[in-house]
Amino acid sequence: MPLQPLLPAAALAANMAEIHPPLRSQEAFVEASRCLYCFDAPCIMACPTGIDIPAFIKKIAFGNPAGAAKTILSANILGASCARVCPTSVLCEGACVLDDRDEQPIQIGRLQRFATDYIEERGLKVLSAPPQQTGRKIAVIGAGPAGLGCAAELARLGHRVTVFEKQKQPGGLNTYGIAYYKMKPEVSLAEVELVKSLGVEVRCGVAVGKDVTVAQLEKEFEAIFIGVGLGAAARLRIPGEDLPEVIDALDYIARIHTDPLDQVPTGRRVAIIGAGNTAIDAVTQSKRLGAESALIVYRRSEADMSAYGFEYELAKTDGAEFLFHAAPVEVVGPKGHVTGLKLVQTRVDANGRVEFVPGTEWVEPVDLVLKAVGQEKQVDLLKKLFPSLAVDARGAIQRDPLTGATNVPHLFTGGDCANGGREVVNAVGEGKKAAHGIHAFLMKETAAPPVQPSRLGAKQGAAGSGLLRPIRAHELEEALKK
Ligand SMILES: Cc1cc2nc3c(=O)[nH]c(=O)nc-3n(C[C@H](O)[C@H](O)[C@H](O)COP(=O)(O)OP(=O)(O)OC[C@H]3O[C@@H](n4cnc5c(N)ncnc54)[C@H](O)[C@@H]3O)c2cc1C
Ligand code: SF4
Repeated sequence: MPLQPLLPAAALAANMAEIHPPLRSQEAFVEASRCLYCFDAPCIMACPTGIDIPAFIKKIAFGNPAGAAKTILSANILGASCARVCPTSVLCEGACVLDDRDEQPIQIGRLQRFATDYIEERGLKVLSAPPQQTGRKIAVIGAGPAGLGCAAELARLGHRVTVFEKQKQPGGLNTYGIAYYKMKPEVSLAEVELVKSLGVEVRCGVAVGKDVTVAQLEKEFEAIFIGVGLGAAARLRIPGEDLPEVIDALDYIARIHTDPLDQVPTGRRVAIIGAGNTAIDAVTQSKRLGAESALIVYRRSEADMSAYGFEYELAKTDGAEFLFHAAPVEVVGPKGHVTGLKLVQTRVDANGRVEFVPGTEWVEPVDLVLKAVGQEKQVDLLKKLFPSLAVDARGAIQRDPLTGATNVPHLFTGGDCANGGREVVNAVGEGKKAAHGIHAFLMKETAAPPVQPSRLGAKQGAAGSGLLRPIRAHELEEALKK
């Protein structure tokens, strides 16, 4: 049976509503007042963009949410989306000292959202590009979180930046890939407007390598930031994979972001292959689109799943089912449409390799199969665009993690294509570091990338540079004695 939408618009709107509602003013004030404003706050070090969290929380507690938003956005231009999508329990909130005292950690993500929503709803502008222009021109390939993080920081350093994006809409996975119940694409698109307001030009519908060549970019620009992310879902390499109802989970999720919800075709019985965060997002969204059953198929054990625990719990609450130690061997579709998925039991051998258990095959009746076994690396694209760029064995671009510098002097990188696939906040942080690497390269300065600020480090920032260095242990001890 061809796929079709299953629920009416009103039910879908309710199912896909944001799972974490915003804090009201009074709630935000009370939550902010719980913060201890730690002297050398561990949450700052745990945030990959180094937001001065106690500082922004204090501004909320003192009735200055616009000032709080300025503190956030100065460190992380995508602070509004990070507030919604960061796995805070393993980042800033996981480092909160209240956690160690068996108290609830401060809800940093929700406070960050409160502050950034405050200025967005009122149309307040808290950041401006510096008036002086260096006259240096930089091209950024990819308008995802890494490219936008890099572009915004470069603009704030006084450079002229043009971002080239192959999709119609900018934002990368932030616009097309984040689970719909976590964040709507409008939040991501508003952030792109913020980046543009700093003077950055964003050209959408321009694929580098197709619509514009690297040689053209190199003629016009002095440095290039590569933020192309990862590619399509890896193939299953089993019979029946090319049937129309076998879909890349990313394409399925992208349709949820581009089509009206009541026009997104979906399956009644869905199987998702894989057990990472993409698989979990896909299974949860399938259920919320109205699937009667949605089954994760994973060849290893529950303990081996790479998905975050809180995402796993949400999926189970939504009624998703999980089949461990099972692998697909064939998609069944005798009449040209998927009717089932043939599976086999697996076991792990003494060397940790997965092997099939002979004679254990069975068919699960399904009408949609979503592939979520990891995204392909962009090795072919990178080799075609930049033949001398060094790419490691995992397919990630080799770079200096502090400056984003690659083995080619004018090429810099960050985000998923360089780190192999992490989180939005990592991509933004790496883009920002690369911006400082590019700035140092163009201005012939010693690269001094931003490091995590700390209350102590802030007092000792390199004179005149505005950049901070980490505090040393003995300095911390001395400062604490005072
Ligand atoms: C399904 C899914 C759910 C996720 N959920 C979360 C989450 O809840 N929280 C979280 O923190 N992270 C999440 N992530 C991870 C996060 O989305 C990524 O780490 C982040 O988007 C990486 O940013 P990036 O800029 O490196 O890459 P991308 O976001 O992939 O952006 C790369 C951009 O480059 C463009 N591009 C590629 N090639 C070219 C070219 N030749 N010319 C021009 N443009 C080009 C692409 O079109 C794209 O817009 C999720 C990822 C997936 C796949
Ligand atoms: S950007 Fe993410 S990790 Fe950093 S403080 Fe905000 S919510 Fe926490």
